[in-house]
Amino acid sequence: MTQRVYNFSAGPAVMPVPVLESIQRDMLALPGVGASILEISHRSGTFVAIAEAAEANLRKLLSISDDYAVLFLQGGSRLQFSMIPMNLLGKGQSADYILTGSWGNDALKEAKKEGETSVAWDGKSTNYDRLPKNGDLKLNPQAAYIHYTSNETIQGVQFKSEPEVGEVPLVCDASSEFLYKPLDVSKYGLLYACAQKNAGPSGVTVVIIRKDLLKRSDPNMPGYLNYQIHADNGSMWNTPPTFGIYVLKLVTDWLLNDVGGLDAMYQRNQDKAKLLYDVLDESNGFYAGHAQREDRSLMNVTFRLPSDELTDQFVGEAKKQSLTDLKGHRSVGGIRASIYNAMPLAGVEKLRDFMVEFKEKNAK
Ligand SMILES: *Cc1c(COP(=O)(O)O)cnc(C)c1O
Repeated sequence: MTQRVYNFSAGPAVMPVPVLESIQRDMLALPGVGASILEISHRSGTFVAIAEAAEANLRKLLSISDDYAVLFLQGGSRLQFSMIPMNLLGKGQSADYILTGSWGNDALKEAKKEGETSVAWDGKSTNYDRLPKNGDLKLNPQAAYIHYTSNETIQGVQFKSEPEVGEVPLVCDASSEFLYKPLDVSKYGLLYACAQKNAGPSGVTVVIIRKDLLKRSDPNMPGYLNYQIHADNGSMWNTPPTFGIYVLKLVTDWLLNDVGGLDAMYQRNQDKAKLLYDVLDESNGFYAGHAQREDRSLMNVTFRLPSDELTDQFVGEAKKQSLTDLKGHRSVGGIRASIYNAMPLAGVEKLRDFMVEFKEKNAK
């Protein structure tokens, strides 16, 4: 057996070990089926039951009401950057975008190709180290929707609660925090997340959409891009990402049965993040956090060291201790430790100890 490392990758990212073990155990033959999940029809009773269980688990974890459809799509969150305006932004309408980091900017870029947009707030002037207060938003009460990114994966800034936007449908890219804590879905028009950060493997993207918004989809748009068609067909208009849905079902089983639900998950996530932020705060500036304190992410901890040399040394020495994938994104620099749901406390404790030691050895 190869030794597993503590993998702090931003995505695809660490998965719960019991989930990997289930996949391994059942890969050649699903119990009672005699064939692999990779080999069975998406129309088979076995797969339909798996997809229904995945949806039921999500509905249970997030208390999603029947007013919402849950879709399992392909194309990642980036396809949602286009599908959202294609479906929801009518002619003559405009959509508002809150820009708190790289992903929000990328979402806006795609929306601009589809219609009118307006920037409700932009954190660029401070290199996306903070979030807006409700009073800071320039909102258009007639907007088709307002889009925001609840956790900016690259900068490591995360909203603690939804921005207040009145009656305008709130659209959220929750890719890198999905299922990290309980959520009031009724506040959203649409919430989406690719699975490969916090919910499963790459290849499946979850879209939770209020059913009244499905009416906005133009029947003449390409079928795959049309939310209404996916909702009418239970995400089986074409072959859905079967393996991804299967793993999502296992991850949500793990959240429900092993972790004990999202309140418990949230507590674990708070405890883990505190271990690292305490090191930052007690380092006399040796570890300089990118995000302002009140806007720090529980999922992606971003910070810089005094020099590029020390940063490289940090990454190299950490790797020797089986702490991997810690280099920050080039636009922010420094270090990024992604500590999603599946990162065990022991991994964060080991990183914390490494950081304390590294600082003692290298701080002047
Ligand atoms: C990773 C990520 C994306 C991009 O997802 P893809 O599946 O690669 O398209 C979009 N938004 C956020 C917040 C992300 O973390």
